[in-house]
Amino acid sequence: MIELSEVTKVYPGGVNALGGVSLRIDAGELVAIVGPSGSGKSTMLNVLGTLDRPSSGTVRIDRYDVARLSDAGLSALRATRIGFVFQQFHLAAGVRAVDNVADGLLYSGLRLGVRRRRAAAALERVGLAHRLDHEPHELSGGERQRVAVARAVAGEPAVLLADEPTGALDSASGAGVMQLLRDLHAAGTTVVVITHDRDIAASLPRQVRMRDGRIIEEIRS
Ligand code: ADP
Ligand code: MG
Repeated sequence: MIELSEVTKVYPGGVNALGGVSLRIDAGELVAIVGPSGSGKSTMLNVLGTLDRPSSGTVRIDRYDVARLSDAGLSALRATRIGFVFQQFHLAAGVRAVDNVADGLLYSGLRLGVRRRRAAAALERVGLAHRLDHEPHELSGGERQRVAVARAVAGEPAVLLADEPTGALDSASGAGVMQLLRDLHAAGTTVVVITHDRDIAASLPRQVRMRDGRIIEEIRS
């Protein structure tokens, strides 16, 4: 489903964030990416999700070579196939939960009423049917992350990419968000999650360990 071949990433200024990474993620997998801070985890996730282009090497999604797609083609692929969740939620302040989620469907071309109905259904799926009209400042951290997950999955993407989604949460809320990711995986979504938490990582069927911009080990259990 997603394949990186010999991917490197050099940031302006000369930081070698990825030093030749090859990784294949098949449909239906649940994968943890682990490694110390600065080891290139976020860079790799951004390249996997087409938020960033590699300096060299190839990225294939659904067998499309991402480098051959136009910006519009790439945006369409990203909007329809990939959902993102970040540590800091990235919700719009002053906007109700249902509209934060509905705005994630802007590229779908659906009418506002339909987008809102889908958003409400996604919020119900993450256990927030009773929080549709709450703004981010009226929600707990765990609830905000659930809204962010609802926004990521409202368009029913094949792949959900999560960059330390529990990093800003207390352990109980974090466990709830992890369970939500497991439920989405069980329902058929491919999930890739960066985590600092060794227990979380060890509980997932595949772990990819990174260090200094490279994959140093893979564990399947
Ligand atoms: P991780 O997510 O594992 O902490 P990152 O992928 O964020 O690691 O960063 C890998 C390396 O690339 C680090 O040395 C970091 O400082 C550097 N880096 C990350 N983003 C940028 C950027 N936009 N510009 C320059 N250097 C960056
Ligand atoms: Mg990171």
